[in-house]
Amino acid sequence: MTKIPYGRQAISQEDIDAVVAVLHSDFLTQGPVVPAFEKAVASYCHANYAVAVNSATSALHIACLALGVGPGDIVWTSPVTFVASANCALYCGASVDFVDIDPQTYNLSVENLTTKLTEAEKLGKLPKVLIPVHLCGQSCDMVSIHQLSKKYGFRIVEDASHAIGGYYKNEPVGNCRYSDITIFSFHPVKIITTGEGGMAVTNNPELADLMQRYRSHGITSDAQKMMQRPANEIWNYQQIALGFNYRMTEIQAALGLSQMGQLDEFVAKRHELALRYDDALAGLLLRTPFQDSNTYSSYHLYPIRIKLAESKLNQRGVYDILQAEGINVNLHYIPVYRQPYYEAMGFLPGYCPEAEAYHKETLSIPMYPTLKNVEQDKVINILHEVLS
Ligand SMILES: *Cc1c(COP(=O)(O)O)cnc(C)c1O
Repeated sequence: MTKIPYGRQAISQEDIDAVVAVLHSDFLTQGPVVPAFEKAVASYCHANYAVAVNSATSALHIACLALGVGPGDIVWTSPVTFVASANCALYCGASVDFVDIDPQTYNLSVENLTTKLTEAEKLGKLPKVLIPVHLCGQSCDMVSIHQLSKKYGFRIVEDASHAIGGYYKNEPVGNCRYSDITIFSFHPVKIITTGEGGMAVTNNPELADLMQRYRSHGITSDAQKMMQRPANEIWNYQQIALGFNYRMTEIQAALGLSQMGQLDEFVAKRHELALRYDDALAGLLLRTPFQDSNTYSSYHLYPIRIKLAESKLNQRGVYDILQAEGINVNLHYIPVYRQPYYEAMGFLPGYCPEAEAYHKETLSIPMYPTLKNVEQDKVINILHEVLS
């Protein structure tokens, strides 16, 4: 029996045809499809520039580099996220700190952010960059975060790995109205996929230029940006910074571009499934995901929060039963600072109490566009048995 996963890709015949067409073409990398995919995402998000890379992790890294993050700097993010949201700061030699979450939205709490900024200002330890994470696809309170960034002078990278296709105040996530850069992930469990892949979008031409350079070895082939060299020597490119090979292939971009055509459909289907869960799970010993009225989530995840005080079963008990029934529920996320690597840096258990409470009570149940109603009903029926 194959298990019902918590998330998976949806690949159409059109997607397959687009990938095959690239395989028959002249370019498998550095051809015309990557720029076409970048244009499609930028245009969808109402952003001016997009830089495609081989993962969202790479996008976070070059976003931090473009904003000048380096040794001595501090980057803040949410503890309830994938480790990549924090690791990007460490790649740059900076340090990381965490802002505890809001108990309702599970996104980083603006109230906690405000308190922490006040304290950090007194200590002279303000962050250079804040990385708010749009958990499950629901946007953070970007207006408030943006206002605080003006007051305290930090820059903003939105980690929208979960959130392409989502909206905030009736505008697409990624428009960067309230941030410097927004990054997306195209890992197969996310909203659209390129196998592995990511993108950074921005409205700032200098940041776009820097990110393009960091994506490809720190090399430029723009004559304007090159150092003067003797005219009889051939200099068709120059390395002017230390970058990486973070490029996306044409094969991946073809899949991504084709998937963009289905993005709205995918998100609509996720909403349909979310509404079915909301209805069917109402009254059980769990909380369904709260939706802020300023947001239209892309519903990457559907976390249920078990009411432990009333339930006979704890999180582990519910997890084990669902797993035994062939449902591959998951946990998003262990607070980043509880990871052994981060604990070794001095973070102690109890650092972010809301994040830890969330971690002990929450499970992500299956949510993806090809999830069938009978499969969803199976999940619902088991939850009725164990959490009534
Ligand atoms: C998936 C994810 C990433 C990393 O994405 P990759 O494309 O796998 O590198 C970063 N942040 C969050 C919140 C994610 O969920």
